[in-house]
Amino acid sequence: MSELKEKIETESFSVFDQIEKMGHEQLVYCHDEKLGLKSIIGIHNTTLGPALGGTRMWDYATTEEAAIDALRLSRGMTFKAAITGLNIGGGKAVIIGNPKLKNEVFMRRFGKFVDSLGGRYITAEDVNMKTLDMEYISMETKHVTGLPQIKGGSGDPSPVTAYGVYIGMKATAKKVWGKDDLTGKRIGVQGMGQVGGYLVDHLVKENSKIYITDIDESKTQRVVDKHGSAVSVISQDELFDLDMDIYAPCALGATLNDDTIPKLKCEIVAGAANNQLKEELKHGKALIDRNIVYAPDFLINAGGLINVYMEHLGGYKQELAYLEAEKIYQTTIDILDRAEKESKTTQESAMEIAIERIEKVGMLKLPFSAS
Ligand code: NAD
Repeated sequence: MSELKEKIETESFSVFDQIEKMGHEQLVYCHDEKLGLKSIIGIHNTTLGPALGGTRMWDYATTEEAAIDALRLSRGMTFKAAITGLNIGGGKAVIIGNPKLKNEVFMRRFGKFVDSLGGRYITAEDVNMKTLDMEYISMETKHVTGLPQIKGGSGDPSPVTAYGVYIGMKATAKKVWGKDDLTGKRIGVQGMGQVGGYLVDHLVKENSKIYITDIDESKTQRVVDKHGSAVSVISQDELFDLDMDIYAPCALGATLNDDTIPKLKCEIVAGAANNQLKEELKHGKALIDRNIVYAPDFLINAGGLINVYMEHLGGYKQELAYLEAEKIYQTTIDILDRAEKESKTTQESAMEIAIERIEKVGMLKLPFSAS
């Protein structure tokens, strides 16, 4: 018993350390023994509105790993929403376990947990979640987005995410080369999944010189089948030795690190992957030292969040989501200008702008008004 008590105290202390460090409002542990459902919902900051962010299902090795992911991801959503000018806060949920555990009852039970938060957290799709899972959740709560378009939802967010990445890439090109035309620019796109594939569609229309890579050959083949000689397939190893104008990471996070940055031969990094900088400050600075301009990932990949936000507002129309995503262009320019003026990394400047907005909008709530 005393051993158990000690363990519980140690764990809860470390969780609170993390919450305090990252500034969260709430971290909710959900458990249904019969269904084997274990989930952690992170609510980082609700100053701008209810916390909106997807649910990720992953077979985490430990509960602590899952909690850290929920904390880290929900914090990221706060900044993404704030920098994009949306009136929502940052949240994210993780479900621990093999996605094969999912079924109607499992997802509806999770929906009940989401519902118990009374709208402080609104869920959506993330890794290993499908629109069908969102439909099950919607049977138990209205606090869910990412429903299929035929059910009045916003469906797959990837096309809008890819559009935002493309727009952010163009804005960065404007800053670096004085014009945003990508014709003839050599662009290496890493990851031919949902977003990477749609991004290539835009780049082909611009007549860019496109190099694509993926660990899954069927993914690159799908793009070759669609675009033929407009794209060239390269191996993963070749990517970092390639003379490029733009590197677009659209697969995994942390690809900007001690190993890759010294090798990179490009002037711009602009892609969809979350958390591209392995260490935010260190690798942001390392890119500056190599004269490479980095378009902050959490800004230019915000199209997916914009898409579910538009669904949350009601009366979803995809064309309005695209219009909203177009604002990423000017925000990117503003951040790059500010970073240059203040000799800071673009990531730092983006975070500062996001925090300033949260603080200023937060002041609107004071003093109390009866109206
Ligand atoms: P996806 O799973 O459809 O595609 C990822 C692709 O990357 C897969 O084809 C995979 O085989 C490939 N891949 C994995 N490791 C690789 C490697 N080392 N080298 C090359 N390719 C590799 O995912 P997605 O929805 O296209 O998202 C891509 C990235 O963008 C992810 O980091 C995701 O978190 C981020 N993102 C996606 C959205 C969205 O709307 N889908 C929104 C915001 C951010």
